[in-house]
Amino acid sequence: MIVDYHMHLRNGSEEVAHDTWSVDPFVAAARAAGVDEIGFTEHVYYFTQTRSLWTVPYQTERCLYDLDAYVDAVVQARERGQPVKLGLEVDYVPGREDETRKLLAPYPWDYLLGSVHFVDGFGVDGEPKLLDEVGVEEAWSRYFETLAAAARSGLFDSLSHPDLVKIFGERAAAFDYAEVADAIAQTGIAVEVSTAGLRKPVEEIYPSSAFLEMIVDAGNPIALSSDAHTTDQLGYRYDDALRLMADHSVTELAVFDRLERRLEAIG
Ligand SMILES: [Zn+2]
Ligand SMILES: [Zn+2]
Repeated sequence: MIVDYHMHLRNGSEEVAHDTWSVDPFVAAARAAGVDEIGFTEHVYYFTQTRSLWTVPYQTERCLYDLDAYVDAVVQARERGQPVKLGLEVDYVPGREDETRKLLAPYPWDYLLGSVHFVDGFGVDGEPKLLDEVGVEEAWSRYFETLAAAARSGLFDSLSHPDLVKIFGERAAAFDYAEVADAIAQTGIAVEVSTAGLRKPVEEIYPSSAFLEMIVDAGNPIALSSDAHTTDQLGYRYDDALRLMADHSVTELAVFDRLERRLEAIG
């Protein structure tokens, strides 16, 4: 089985399109790419219902859409027999775990992705840039501390783009992943292998080979994704991801169904 478990529901013009018929071009693109099942994971901060969680302008400015409409769009596609899963890409906000849990509890998720896009009000992959504010060494250590806390929060089924902080190609010298890998190992959470990094300045899959090795050695399941915002990005450069996973003896992928996880053989 091949899945793509991280994508954003958009129309052909890359505009947010939370209606069930906008799902179908993604399903068609999945078939063409040899992907058996896809999961939609809209950004949690796009929804009016989550407004109280955010303090960063990038997020507060985007709380424009109805979470119920998004959920209905994907659930209707699921009920029409399309091979789609209902997920959400959820920004982890330290200290707001209970509120996050309560807000999301009423919905029939297949899985929730945990993401760290902001640390202490600064953007990991956007403005105002964490890297510029605190420097590369500090940015890396704060980012991975927050990622470890996201894993430990128990809010999420899978960690998105786990070393996102490398996005611009700036790397901490001799960074040791052992501490964060250990925290992730203790939770048993799934971890994404994401080809999105290949489309960014770093031009490398998330996570790096060294980090992936620790994750796999610890026994955490692997989730596979492209983080597509357009249908042509679905399954983006999966050959590279499959090669990387094969190099690390990954033979199974995490598959989610109403918050239950199982492993399926790759292929
Ligand atoms: Zn993301
Ligand atoms: Zn995303």
